[in-house]
Amino acid sequence: MIERLDYEEIGFISGLEVHQQLLTAEKLFCRCPAGLYTTTHDGEILRHMRPTLSELGEYDGTALMEFKTKKEILYLLNRLNVCTYEMDDTPPFLVNQDAIDIAIQLCLSMNMDIIDEVHIARKQYLDGSIPTGFQRTAIVAVNGWMPFKGRRLTVTHVSIEEDSCREVSDKGHRIIFRTDRLGTPLTETVTGAELRNPQEVREAITLCGLVARSTGRVRTGLGAARQDINVSVRGGRRVEIKGVPRAAYSVKLTHNEAIRQVNLLKLRDAMRGRGLDSPDNIRMHSKDLSDICSYEALGFCRGVLGDNRIYGVRIEGARELAQHPTQPGKSFLDELSGRIRVIACLDESPIILGGDTLPKFQDMPEMQRRVREKLGAKDRDDVFLLCGPQTDCLTAAEEIRLRFCDAADGVPMETRQALPCGLTTFERILPGPDRMYPDTDLPPTQITPERIEESRRQLRPVPWEREKRYGSWRVPLETTHFLIRRGGAEIVDAIVEKTGADGLVAAIEIGQRAKAMKRAGIPIQRLDTDKWIEVFDLYTDGLIPREGIRSVAARMATEPELSAKQAADAEDINLQGAEKWGSEVETLIDGAADAIAQGADGKATRLITGKATAMLAGKAAAKDVALYVRQRLLEGRP
Ligand SMILES: [Zn+2]
Repeated sequence: MIERLDYEEIGFISGLEVHQQLLTAEKLFCRCPAGLYTTTHDGEILRHMRPTLSELGEYDGTALMEFKTKKEILYLLNRLNVCTYEMDDTPPFLVNQDAIDIAIQLCLSMNMDIIDEVHIARKQYLDGSIPTGFQRTAIVAVNGWMPFKGRRLTVTHVSIEEDSCREVSDKGHRIIFRTDRLGTPLTETVTGAELRNPQEVREAITLCGLVARSTGRVRTGLGAARQDINVSVRGGRRVEIKGVPRAAYSVKLTHNEAIRQVNLLKLRDAMRGRGLDSPDNIRMHSKDLSDICSYEALGFCRGVLGDNRIYGVRIEGARELAQHPTQPGKSFLDELSGRIRVIACLDESPIILGGDTLPKFQDMPEMQRRVREKLGAKDRDDVFLLCGPQTDCLTAAEEIRLRFCDAADGVPMETRQALPCGLTTFERILPGPDRMYPDTDLPPTQITPERIEESRRQLRPVPWEREKRYGSWRVPLETTHFLIRRGGAEIVDAIVEKTGADGLVAAIEIGQRAKAMKRAGIPIQRLDTDKWIEVFDLYTDGLIPREGIRSVAARMATEPELSAKQAADAEDINLQGAEKWGSEVETLIDGAADAIAQGADGKATRLITGKATAMLAGKAAAKDVALYVRQRLLEGRP
């Protein structure tokens, strides 16, 4: 197993497709509300996918794969968030212009050329997650870039498209979807394949997220932004890891995919060494072995139910190849199992038995001998066992052959599902390039130069501009990113502009203290920009100390009818000059005469400052009290 990788040496390359839901009131092609998710349903619709010839007279490989799965697709419908459009029973309504406006702003942030005329196209989508079998999509801009680690990260194009259904469950031949998310507007941002290692992938995802958040017009929360990450190594092929919800997950996922590809290339070489170098040389034989195998001994729980059978599969010359490593802790047998799970729908563990996954029961050597004998296995052959309905077992046996054929060629192009452990599993064959075709249901949208200019005027600062400006105020980068992600940066900028407050103070109070208050259950998000400006006005006018900002803000959050001044009064904060409180500090200094006399000056200063600050909370700024005490004790002047 490879622990470390020299990404440059193996030719690691990655690019992103970032999907970001837009904050619109309605869906993209109908007037149903967007972002209204439900957990109940009023109706169900059952559908099957059936491949039809494309306009070029060909079947798409992905379409055939989905057809092989023979899935029943069940849609759950709630009258609150779905209509006949999403179910393909009425034509689309005109495209949501708000969504186009948001997309234009996003694209301008990334220095892109906006398309003059936005044309809707259909993109084949055959996994059932879109009932029509296609997704409506339109390119909005091309040819952009973002500053990235001292170079430029290319943004090849941005499209607007409709989101797919949410999967509820996928068991056997039945997959269930909720249709609430279906049709929600999202942008797809496609970057160049320019990321050179997993850390760069992570940073690029974070950057794309910050740019989208900077517009202030995108949805947030888990699932509102999902990335597909394309990864390949030299000699391998593009593999797409689908739906990665967080930037941090990308590091392990892409690292492990690189390991997988390096190992699959080694497996290919090993197969070539055995003459298994083309589909013609890979021979598979399968047989029903239910009469000589025991379900229980093999651990196939489902065996005893219904019409299930046990099938043996023999691959000539493949002895021990299934144990070849792939991802960390995984072997080629898992590649077989992934394909069988998805395509033959045999999804109960164990999906396939072979090599060292065969149980080590006492009678196993005898059973294995009989299995190999019945399958006519020679020493150099490998055998596998499957359990399920006859038709599924035959589909699975053929998939085993096809996966070995792919292995003879190296890394197959496929989409892979991200698992929580940083590993991936087969999802489907990567769709071919011909999956797009024009949609004649809708007129194109003209994007006039005036509309682009209007968008440009409304454009908010891009993240790299804020990073630079906040950096000059010495705001930690993490806080800057938090402020951009959560919209706090807009408030900070307004405070600095309108009240003249110090940028660092505003950024820390909004980005760190307010965050802590929210965690403590104070509804601080109720304070809009105007209210924050009121609070900071008191601070810059010298009426409240810096430490008063949070208590006034908290009071205003819990009692929204109060003005900032009233909140300050309610908190008993009313800053006074040293002439009002200096005598109280003098009393404390007199009381500590012994400590001071013992010569422990620093200690006495800290002690008195602490006591005085607590005593004068709300009347004097802590920094003024500290200064007074320090000057009085160390420098002898009040
Ligand atoms: Zn609708």
